Amino acid sequence: MTPENKKLSRRDFIKDAGIGGISTLVSLATGGLVGNLMAQDATPTETPKPEIPPMPKRPFGKTGVNVSILAVGGITDFTTNQIILKKSLDWGINYWDTADCYNGGNSEIGIGQFFEKNPDARKKVFLVSKSCERSLDGMSKLLARSFERMKTDYIDLYFIHGISNIKEMAPEMKDWAEKMKKEGKIKFFGFSTHKNMAELLQMAPSLGFIDGIMMTYNYRIMHKDDMKKGVEECQKAGIGLTAMKTQGGGQVKTDTEEELKLAGQFIQKGYTPHQAKLKAVWQNPAIATICSAMYNLTVLSANVAAAVDNTKLELSDLMELKTYAAKNCSGYCAGCASICDAAMGRDSHIADVMRYVMYQKEYGDAEMARREFASLPEGVRYSLRHLDFAAAERACPQKMPIGKIMREAADLLA
Ligand code: SF4
Repeated sequence: MTPENKKLSRRDFIKDAGIGGISTLVSLATGGLVGNLMAQDATPTETPKPEIPPMPKRPFGKTGVNVSILAVGGITDFTTNQIILKKSLDWGINYWDTADCYNGGNSEIGIGQFFEKNPDARKKVFLVSKSCERSLDGMSKLLARSFERMKTDYIDLYFIHGISNIKEMAPEMKDWAEKMKKEGKIKFFGFSTHKNMAELLQMAPSLGFIDGIMMTYNYRIMHKDDMKKGVEECQKAGIGLTAMKTQGGGQVKTDTEEELKLAGQFIQKGYTPHQAKLKAVWQNPAIATICSAMYNLTVLSANVAAAVDNTKLELSDLMELKTYAAKNCSGYCAGCASICDAAMGRDSHIADVMRYVMYQKEYGDAEMARREFASLPEGVRYSLRHLDFAAAERACPQKMPIGKIMREAADLLA
């Protein structure tokens, strides 16, 4: 057999991954890509090893580092999912994302276990972690704990985790970041956010010390003018961008004829709606990478298949997704917390509660949903059943039934 016969084209690869003409993600990935990769791992002899198309990379802002367009990480417990890390590395994923607080520390600890067993892996990985602390002393302590857990003495990109107001990036953080860079403890610095993303993206360049941002970004909000402006300004400033929550709150629904048609349309083209949503985000070259939750090999392999396949969505596909998003907007909280907070006259935590409900209902992660909900002030949790949210509902651009969802959340997550 010639080398040409052995080499799979990208299109063949995605088809072999079972993505052409199938009905479920499970059969997609387990039937094809995983099979191919197992063949790749098998030793000898008569069976040729299929080559996997290379994982595309993009520059991460002006850092000079090229990162894989698909990132592994999130809240996964890597102490019990070492295979995800191994296969990610095998398949060219060099951007690894974690945080001090993810999975009670098991995300970082699992990465440390992997580096301990595979010492060569550390230098191949662009390692990202995050601090929930805002005080300099607290940040230093958490950074030291991250080193200890991950068996490393540097982190490539260090984020302040989950900010919702640019004031949380205090000026003294600049000096802290510069000191850590000089000492070789971090290479780059920035923040992550799931609330008020558009404002934060627009304001970040003016701080002058932000190298990277990880933010909620998906087919539902990428078309909004303020998000487009924020992304463009960061791109101009050379700030690297990592997209998360790219599924926009869960599966494309298939309850109506129209929804079924949309889902079927992508399947016919050779990818699932899940993969189409990833492709919609990759279509913006300003986004360096997508960090999508990948808890098992099925999802990992389907995402890898989508990343290495260079088929682009057509304009009509993007428009269909946009139309779908507009029609289903009341089922998705866009994280524009400053709007509902202004309507309620205070930090209402509505967007936080919305996110926890999403963890429970869309991600099926009741434990995380309850844990996060429990971290809200008791008064906030108690008031959900009793407050009048009418003003926030009138202001909400997504037309969400906020009061109903808050009351449901109080029952569901308590
Ligand atoms: S509830 Fe509405 S206004 Fe509040 S963050 Fe969500 S989408 Fe924005």
